[in-house]
Amino acid sequence: MIQQSIIENPVIDARHVRKTFKDITAVKDLSIQIKKGEFVALLGPNGAGKTTLVEMIEGIQKPDSGDILLFGKTWRGNEQHLRQRIGLSLQETHFIDKISVWETLDLFASFFGIKKDRCEEILSLIRLEEKRKSYTANLSGGQRQRLAIGVALLNHPELLLLDEPTTGLDPSARRDLWDILMKLKETGTTLILTTHYMEEAEYLCDRIVMMNKGEILTQGTLEELLSASGGGEQIEIQTHQPADLTELAGNPVFMTYHTLENKLVHTFSVTDTPAAVQLLLSKIAETENSIRSLKCTRRTLDDLFIEMTGQHLSEEA
Ligand code: ATP
Repeated sequence: MIQQSIIENPVIDARHVRKTFKDITAVKDLSIQIKKGEFVALLGPNGAGKTTLVEMIEGIQKPDSGDILLFGKTWRGNEQHLRQRIGLSLQETHFIDKISVWETLDLFASFFGIKKDRCEEILSLIRLEEKRKSYTANLSGGQRQRLAIGVALLNHPELLLLDEPTTGLDPSARRDLWDILMKLKETGTTLILTTHYMEEAEYLCDRIVMMNKGEILTQGTLEELLSASGGGEQIEIQTHQPADLTELAGNPVFMTYHTLENKLVHTFSVTDTPAAVQLLLSKIAETENSIRSLKCTRRTLDDLFIEMTGQHLSEEA
């Protein structure tokens, strides 16, 4: 696993956190630090423990053991102070159906003593000006999610925590939401976001933390994760007859080698795609065998997750 370097004055400092529900350990002795301005994705399949971890950071759930510090403070005794510095949006947001978008923002703003100007700013940021008078019940899924994020941003949070903000949204609604989040990056906001979607983690986040079964499986930038597991390019070759390409795997351009389906399908992660393709072609040309298909692709986080756990990151993948 890629080790995280020590961060001074982290915004989030979770140490040896553990949470059990009856016989299920949702989060196991997990430690993580997140620095100011960092965008971090918690990526993992259903049940990996992402929501439980985020809810403990949000002060909604208490860890059974371990410590969580936000801005150097524990939740205990600092609840009011911390609530003012963070913004959060849960996996599902329920608004009052029969009040408008504007009234919803105004209502939440009143909880924090926030002026109406800020509601206007948010309305423009989440691009719902045209929907200001619409009942929340009449918003599309993407518009509701944008409103949920708008509410979370009302108090200018230094730390924003979003739990699966784009689950169930179509690609265009997902993109709209990403645009809003990218704008926040310029303001130095720290973001922690849980997601099933590797493209989301890749596009938005500086650091990707892959979780599985309550633990951090690995973490780093996309490039770090891919290069630690054998490079960013992958070749998949299918042959007409079973082939034994193990000997080739000893060459330094090949980082990992897997053979599937009775040695008819072979995948290599490679450091130099053209050199690897040439080697493969000449190896096959030496035999009676021939190539059925050859595909060069960029490796994805899903490929990495499969290598590490034998499962896909999400059912969609
Ligand atoms: P998803 O992507 O499906 O939301 P997740 O990675 O967020 O999954 P969690 O919701 O944190 O995972 O769940 C981790 C494990 O803890 C799961 O096995 C889940 O069933 C269990 N769990 C979570 N909350 C509770 C609870 N309140 N009571 C009992 N078990 C729970």
